Amino acid sequence: MRIVDIRETAIPLKSKLANSSFDFSEMTTSVVAVITDVVRGGKPVCGFAFNSTGRYACGAQMRARFIPRILAADPGTLLDAGGDNLDPAKIFTCMMRREKAGGHSERSIAIGTIEVAVWDAIAKIAEKPLHHVLAERYSDGKVPAKVFCYVGGGWYWPGQTIKDLQDEMRRHLDAGYTLVKMKVGGLPLEDDVRWLEAVLKVVGSGEHLAVDANCKFDRAEALRYAKALAPFKLRWFEEPCDPLDFALLAELASVYAPPLATGENLFSTPDVENLARFGGFRADRDIIQIDPPQAYGIGQYARTVDMLARHGWPRRSLFPHGGNQMSLAIAAGFGLGGAESYPGVFGDFGGFADDARIVDGAIALSDRPGIGFEGQAALYRIMRELVQ
Ligand code: MG
Repeated sequence: MRIVDIRETAIPLKSKLANSSFDFSEMTTSVVAVITDVVRGGKPVCGFAFNSTGRYACGAQMRARFIPRILAADPGTLLDAGGDNLDPAKIFTCMMRREKAGGHSERSIAIGTIEVAVWDAIAKIAEKPLHHVLAERYSDGKVPAKVFCYVGGGWYWPGQTIKDLQDEMRRHLDAGYTLVKMKVGGLPLEDDVRWLEAVLKVVGSGEHLAVDANCKFDRAEALRYAKALAPFKLRWFEEPCDPLDFALLAELASVYAPPLATGENLFSTPDVENLARFGGFRADRDIIQIDPPQAYGIGQYARTVDMLARHGWPRRSLFPHGGNQMSLAIAAGFGLGGAESYPGVFGDFGGFADDARIVDGAIALSDRPGIGFEGQAALYRIMRELVQ
């Protein structure tokens, strides 16, 4: 068996949303198809992935380096010990040939997206949902029936009113979610607090609300927000400052008692280890939110989870970034704290399977082989076009 071809294309997200720091009007994502010569149900098995949300398409690196390296390799060197499925670690090593240390995000998103598509193919060849395959390899076979899921919502958009924001949050609660997140930092602090209080009237209390500043604040502003937000005892305060300013994160953790969160802009295990060592993050309450397809993929995520465990971090403190079926399968397969959800935003790339339902804040998992994109009709149409 072998990988016959790997194809990619860049798709615009066509979103009018914005966070505190940038809007998504130019945002694109790379969609990848890994085509194998294995036949299931009369068709070749294809693995699919996309490069999650918030980082632009990265086809140039894929076309110049990573796809040619895989296709040039002796196919037998990319198979597992039994020779009857692909070996993700061997394919990762093949992509990393002739790559210098450091400089991670120049390649981690391209490599991670291809790697996650490889996992989709592996699970389909094994005829199992990806979260089952991951649970067998990384979680003693413990397969949860459902996963806690919260809404990454409350975006800024042109003409938005407080009532619009409250209506959005009401829709999320009506849909079955119990934890919602809203953006902060896009308005002056006093206005952000007013909007936050309006949302709290809908969701009830701080434990049902997280906020995300998308790395907006300098030291003075981060400390000002921390002081203003602390009394609300929010579920978490996400990305107050630059993701690599570990000294400021540590300072915030020393003065802000409720949970902090970060990690979606860290792309390697050493970067996350520096957060654990120097960021002052507290394993008993804070949240780490790596985006696996953007950070070298699932095999590397497993190494990051192991590293964090050595620093005392339980898996319940890990919430992979990206409201999509890739992060959902990873949250389920590794037994993590939960997954994010983007209902109704990011066009065909937001949300889960069309038949997915949220009950009491948790989503039931599908039995579809692989990641399950086949159950997400609009997105699957884009993926199928790559292989036809
Ligand atoms: Mg965020």
